[in-house]
Amino acid sequence: MPDSLAGLRLGLDHSYARLPERFHARVAPTPVAAPRLLRLNAPLAEELGLDPALLASEAGVAILAGNALPEDAQPIAMAYAGHQFGGFTPRLGDGRAILLGELIGPDGARRDLQLKGAGRTPFSRGADGRAALGPVLREYLISEAMHALGIPTTRSLAAVATGEPVFRETPLPGAVLARVAASHIRVGSFQYFAARGDAEALRLLADHAIARHDPAAAEAPQPYRAFFEGVMARQAALVARWMLVGFIHGVMNTDNTTISGETIDYGPCAFMDAYDPATVFSSIDHYGRYAYGAQPRIIAWNLARLAEALLPLFDAREDAALEWARAAIGRFPALFEAAYAQGLRAKLGLATAEEGDDALVAALLARMAEARLDFTASFRALADAAEGAAPEALAPLGDWLGDWRARLAREPGPAAEKAAALRRANPAVIPRNHLVEEALSAAVEREDLAPFDALLAVLRRPFETPPPRYAAPPPPGGAPYVTFCGT
Ligand code: AMP
Ligand code: MG
Repeated sequence: MPDSLAGLRLGLDHSYARLPERFHARVAPTPVAAPRLLRLNAPLAEELGLDPALLASEAGVAILAGNALPEDAQPIAMAYAGHQFGGFTPRLGDGRAILLGELIGPDGARRDLQLKGAGRTPFSRGADGRAALGPVLREYLISEAMHALGIPTTRSLAAVATGEPVFRETPLPGAVLARVAASHIRVGSFQYFAARGDAEALRLLADHAIARHDPAAAEAPQPYRAFFEGVMARQAALVARWMLVGFIHGVMNTDNTTISGETIDYGPCAFMDAYDPATVFSSIDHYGRYAYGAQPRIIAWNLARLAEALLPLFDAREDAALEWARAAIGRFPALFEAAYAQGLRAKLGLATAEEGDDALVAALLARMAEARLDFTASFRALADAAEGAAPEALAPLGDWLGDWRARLAREPGPAAEKAAALRRANPAVIPRNHLVEEALSAAVEREDLAPFDALLAVLRRPFETPPPRYAAPPPPGGAPYVTFCGT
């Protein structure tokens, strides 16, 4: 058991831990051999109302490693179920993550503080409860990049080396990630109770989630229906944002789909380089279930699983509940399409609407796929084209470029303003796979975090033009990129 640090309090609340015992397991982190702070996210700490100097002190690092508990912690592992690659597991739960409690920031927002890789829990199912350094730094880097891109996501507060190996295919250095989230409630959290026929717990969880994420739904004539519609709207907006930057989550299981609308669980995720809707990076995704272009369909499927779990709350009469749920899910494609189309229009610099716009967008994507153009670099180059340049990257677009220039000319305002708007809509920088790998292997193999720091600094300003190597697509001729769950 970790020590309790007399006097050290983080100001934690425990609304989830106050839910009935069957919602979680009370379990403390397992101390590690030699905790060493690798990186602390000081700006995030300040946003949370935590003192970065305190977190970086010996006592603070002990907490971030799970070697000590703040006096006001009530550590729990959350129970949840989930569909993984389509197959249902009724009991997953936090097998290696422990929630210390909830921070109420100076902004009034409530956020979970969780340690990922903090040791075994009753949900570990034979696994070690630990995380390897590479995946921890990967989640740190990519979640911070997503945040800088303006995409809702869990955040990374700190990465701590444990001084202990974890055994995967080979021994790897271990680490703990301190993660912050609006909540860790997932589609699978509702499935857990639905699968048990526990109507009371289902209602308590829905009330809790409404209070946290949809307070307005509580006032609606049908609060649980309004809540479901809120989750749908947030996920439609989220997945549209993923699509607009070429993000591939890689493991969109229902236990990795939040109620808050934040991106969670960065495992085999990666950003697409050349535009191809069939792009898959994950080594375990043999059938392309979670391919780039499949994501809107998969999120709708996951939301249908949520609707199924919530049926008894929609209406006490089963057929009426089912009828409403079907109609609600039927509205998802339009919700997604609206968010996605709006984002694409912004990526093309179109603030006004004209009849031929949809066709213009569709023609661009078709041409990009055909020529396998780099998704990020091509969109970014449009800003230069708007200022009269003829970027080489856009040469393969042929006649399309002329059509687009003519359309852009009908938008109001000076060219410089249009270019600036295009640069705000199209990032110059995404976490390029080859750069992420370079940063992680330097950290893991040589304990050299300089490439990680340099990459993170650039990723924090994705809309500014970086040194060329950070914006460039991968050098041609490399092997296809493969990611691993690597947990
Ligand atoms: P993930 O694919 O990381 O979202 O995890 C799916 C499930 O496996 C969750 O219940 C995790 O808690 C559990 N899990 C993943 N890795 C480990 C591990 N090293 N030890 C214990 N449980 C794990
Ligand atoms: Mg997960």
